Amino acid sequence: MSSFHEQQRTYFDCGLTLSYDARMAVLHQFDQVLRFYEDRIVAALYQDFQKSEFESFTTEFALLYEEIHRAKKNLKKWMRPKRVRTNWINWPASSAVLREPLGVNLIIGAWNYPVLLLLQPAVSALAAGNTAVLKPSENAPAVADVLEQMINTNFDPGHLVVVQGDAKATGELLSLKWDHIFYTGSTQVGKIVYQAAAKHLTPVTLELGGKSPAIISQSANLALTAKRLIWGKFLNAGQTCVAPDYVLVHQSVREAFLQACTLELKRNNYAHGERHYCQIINERHFDRLMGLIDSEKIFFGGVHDRSQRFIGPTIMVDVTLDDAVMKEEIFGPILPVMTYDKIDDAVALIKKLEKPLAAYVFSDNKKEYQKVLSQLSFGGGAVNDVVMHLSNPYLPFGGVGHSGIGAYHGAHGMDCFSHKKSILYKKNWFEAPLKYPPLGKKKLQWIKRIMK
Ligand code: NAD
Repeated sequence: MSSFHEQQRTYFDCGLTLSYDARMAVLHQFDQVLRFYEDRIVAALYQDFQKSEFESFTTEFALLYEEIHRAKKNLKKWMRPKRVRTNWINWPASSAVLREPLGVNLIIGAWNYPVLLLLQPAVSALAAGNTAVLKPSENAPAVADVLEQMINTNFDPGHLVVVQGDAKATGELLSLKWDHIFYTGSTQVGKIVYQAAAKHLTPVTLELGGKSPAIISQSANLALTAKRLIWGKFLNAGQTCVAPDYVLVHQSVREAFLQACTLELKRNNYAHGERHYCQIINERHFDRLMGLIDSEKIFFGGVHDRSQRFIGPTIMVDVTLDDAVMKEEIFGPILPVMTYDKIDDAVALIKKLEKPLAAYVFSDNKKEYQKVLSQLSFGGGAVNDVVMHLSNPYLPFGGVGHSGIGAYHGAHGMDCFSHKKSILYKKNWFEAPLKYPPLGKKKLQWIKRIMK
């Protein structure tokens, strides 16, 4: 394990990743290799948790191809020094910000989108001129095997390599001195990563989770709200970091909203064994999720089958903050619904919990949704939609506080894996005498007059 780390250090120090040509070449290679392995990865996603070809392409590959395409298209522009203004104290001079790669990176992925969450940051790392060791999640083992084969047979391990391992092995990787650690996963493990990084003062990007709320106001278009919300909640069987975790609906439209959700769920027909509805990743998570369901509060669903790791879409009502389902991030196909009377009450309730990765507000009332946006702190989100904000590469994607540190996607990914180096280019044809001895009163008066 540490041999890859040393190999990458040498590779990086030799400057092999720096040039535009080297970066373009590795991105092009990445694109080709991914296309070649696409079918095998889709099969592995099905093997790990019966993820359908449709969901695999739309939620993993489409975003990844887009990221590679965007990086290749913009690389020249992103690498260019960014000229900035120079203040008059430094005259005569010019100034620019240079982006330098951080160096040798450790990228740790999560199981829920095991391809995208490992490879999307890798694309940004390579575009920014870095090397990277990729650690896939052991909870999606078939995907991890194919990714290991795909990367390790097609790239120089000094540049890009996959290293597999469980929590213990990840701990060993974390003990090494990296230039940057990019971690996606739970907040609990995020703290372990942060502590390990602190030992070497290594910068981190932590892409964590949390309980992302969806507020449904009385002004919302309920049919469309239900359509978008149900799609985003039950995508990947609810195992999505930015899925709406729970709903706060205005009490006056509670019944109509629940009816609209029921219609939408029946229309979607997420029946047992339906090929477009994936499994819960493992028995541990199945049991954890079943423990969150209070059967007396089920409004819709509750159907389950442990042998198939299947939990059908489930809506719970009359939920309070004291229910088990509100005590942790659900990360599965259970949607608790609570009501509110005034928008301030909804905001106050959300504020009792940690800052979420996402928040959503369905409302046609601008004043109302602006109030929510200005009063709540969260990673990112949408007005009248869910999840889709992460598919817009112009928006930085990341959390705040308990939901994470840092952001990526598109140019923000390039930023995430670069250091912005500030340079002042001083001219030699003039030097103001003001700062040099003799430092008399007159000089100070001059300086005071100028600076005030
Ligand atoms: P996971 O179990 O796959 O763990 C993630 C990674 O952490 C794995 O590579 C694993 O090997 C490593 N790991 C686990 N325990 C460790 C330990 N003790 N020490 C060191 N490394 C360890 O995934 P998970 O944590 O169950 O992921 C689910 C969480 O991730 C949810 O909270 C979800 O919201 C969050 N998530 C966030 C994003 C995002 O982009 N912000 C995306 C997906 C998931």
